[in-house]
Amino acid sequence: MAMLDLHTHSTASDGTLSPTELVDAALARGLTGLALTDHDTLSGIEAACAHAGPRGLRFLAGIELSAAWQGEDSVHLLGYGVDGPQNADLRAACSAWRAARLDRSTEMVARLQRAGVPITHAAVLAQAGTGAVGRPHVARALVAAGGAGGLQEAFSRWLVPGTPGYVPHARLEAAAAVATIRAAGGVAVLAHPGRLALDTKAREALVTALCTEGLGGIEAYWAQHDAATVAWCELMAARHRLLATGGSDFHGDNKPGVELGMLAGGVTLRLELMDALGTRAAAKD
Ligand code: AMP
Ligand code: ZN
Ligand code: FE
Ligand code: FE
Repeated sequence: MAMLDLHTHSTASDGTLSPTELVDAALARGLTGLALTDHDTLSGIEAACAHAGPRGLRFLAGIELSAAWQGEDSVHLLGYGVDGPQNADLRAACSAWRAARLDRSTEMVARLQRAGVPITHAAVLAQAGTGAVGRPHVARALVAAGGAGGLQEAFSRWLVPGTPGYVPHARLEAAAAVATIRAAGGVAVLAHPGRLALDTKAREALVTALCTEGLGGIEAYWAQHDAATVAWCELMAARHRLLATGGSDFHGDNKPGVELGMLAGGVTLRLELMDALGTRAAAKD
């Protein structure tokens, strides 16, 4: 039986394990296959892939993009098999998105300072290191500055929509994110639909809209999906001919309680899914 985890983050973005440490942790948990899906960067892929191969862990290159659709500004798209030779545009776009993340982090710090939190941008950047800077880094700096008692409080009090430090990403249309992944030779998958602040009618409208751009899958078995959401995703997968994928969204210590290989309902995915995610884009053209 294959134990796969197709949604994970490393220090290349906002996880706390380096790409090679992540591979070692996956092996220690007995995983058969792993995809690394850092936010807006492919910089961890090479090291993870080189470390996984000789140790018998199947590895798939991935990425996670943050996009918007209508009023929802947290539509996340996973891209798989995006390490091919045709991904120059994706790489260029990633540099621009990372630059935008840096500007956004400056703006977040400015807003938090105005709200009276003694936080500095240097402290946030120290948390991010060489990784693509994001809210988990701001959250850690907030805790260190005494602005929150823990990561969860840092988010709920300061970093989610409607709170003083929340700044949305520079707008990227969800359809454009799918198109960019496809142009890089990848398969685009709608990440954790259960997290969308949309009712099921709007969620299906989003799925339908993205299918016209060549959406290839839906992340049905995201670790924190409940049974009803999994069932809805499976229905969408059948209705729109999408692959049903799954992953833990592991971030190491930046997401306590989420372990590698944790999937909704304890489901196990078939190894063939990794083949399909690695090759389907080419086959669909
Ligand atoms: P960003 O891309 O900078 O908006 O950060 C998104 C990341 O923040 C996600 O991948 C999660 O790891 C984390 N995150 C988002 N919302 C929350 C939350 N409410 N509590 C804890 N972590 C969160
Ligand atoms: Zn993240
Ligand atoms: Fe996400
Ligand atoms: Fe993620």
